[in-house]
Amino acid sequence: MEAFLGLDLGTSGVRACAVDARGRLLARAGVPLPPPRRLGTASEQDPRAWWRGIAAALARLRRTLPAGTRPRRLAVAATSGTVLACDEALCPLGPALLYDDARCAEEAACIAAAAPPESPARGAASGLAKWLHLHRRGAPLVLHQADWINARLLGRPPPTDANNALKTGYDPGAGRWPAWLAGLGLDPAAMPAVVVPGTPLGTIAADAAAALGLPPDLVVVAGTTDSTAAVVAAGARAPGDAVTSLGSTLVVKVVSARPVADARHGVYSHPLGRLWLAGGASNTGGAVLARWFTPARIEALCREIDPERDSGLDYYPLARPGERFPVADPALAPRLAPRPADPVRFLHGLLEGIARIEAAGYRRLAELGAPFPRRVLTTGGGAANVVWTRMRRRILGVAVSAVPEAEPALGAARLALGGPPQP
Ligand code: ADP
Repeated sequence: MEAFLGLDLGTSGVRACAVDARGRLLARAGVPLPPPRRLGTASEQDPRAWWRGIAAALARLRRTLPAGTRPRRLAVAATSGTVLACDEALCPLGPALLYDDARCAEEAACIAAAAPPESPARGAASGLAKWLHLHRRGAPLVLHQADWINARLLGRPPPTDANNALKTGYDPGAGRWPAWLAGLGLDPAAMPAVVVPGTPLGTIAADAAAALGLPPDLVVVAGTTDSTAAVVAAGARAPGDAVTSLGSTLVVKVVSARPVADARHGVYSHPLGRLWLAGGASNTGGAVLARWFTPARIEALCREIDPERDSGLDYYPLARPGERFPVADPALAPRLAPRPADPVRFLHGLLEGIARIEAAGYRRLAELGAPFPRRVLTTGGGAANVVWTRMRRRILGVAVSAVPEAEPALGAARLALGGPPQP
């Protein structure tokens, strides 16, 4: 049987998935990574630990695959804001700078002056400031996390993909690195080639195949970012398909026929095959619930909530002041009053408040030109809450469901199987 492999490099671990020729999950495995070193503004990880993690995760995956399974293609999902410097032989020159490393304030200020207002490269978590920082220190090669893994797999520096390159400044609409990069001292012609996620990059290098126990004819295909891979895994593929992530924070994304962007609200669009994935992230989410309730208590109290009725409360739940999307106001105060004595009603108000922010987020994306969702798939810790799902259906006015699988490694495996997602 043929298998298609996906790898997901997270900060805390490496996950691997295999799917069959119809995209069905065959096996999954994961291994933890040593925690990142966080000191002052620095947040670093040793890239060699990623490689060891990949080898361990693939060894575990192999043990659970049916005998005789032959991996054909592999794709990697990783964090675009994590970048590293290498020498010509692809050896890392020091630790990788993780997405939340904040040492590059000076470079970020240069980018803010050079980049157009709508550029996603201006964001705090974008890789461009770190890219510039490493370039200015004379690094022969700067690579996104996924690019370095692909480089190790192929034995040469590979093209990057349009999703990982988006926040590094690449313009996917025009299909090129923008000229304003030159103002920062980065030659657009010297930036990596960019391909569509799912594009075959080449056959695995013999030493990598041997080290990872993979077949010598395995084809490495261009991957994507972890969050885009999660959307592919969730099954969003047609315009109007939306994915809400109800984790610690709330993230809304909708598949759109055209790209939309609004830098003030942190809205941008990733290319997704011939379509686009438009999204924004609010600071509300499960972290606010976790201040008062454990998941078990949420479930217990929810049994007493009637999701078809309004709580009569008008909350804007935030853990601390400040919001970017759907309202951009760095000083926005949490609105959590009046606080009823009854915890059931308090929780009702919180869940409803978050659901209204979700709906406002999708309305904001629609105002910018994306479709309003025709269905909302849900991932994250809050997805399984059926009472909240019904409440959200009432407030959104469209079908809302939990998705069984939204692992980025599964999305990467589906990308390896099918190439770029098609409508
Ligand atoms: P992260 O974004 O940190 O990966 P998860 O997707 O694991 O988060 O979700 C964790 C969040 O989900 C917590 O903040 C928690 O409050 C929330 N949560 C857990 N169980 C429930 C539930 N049954 N209903 C609503 N929220 C929940």
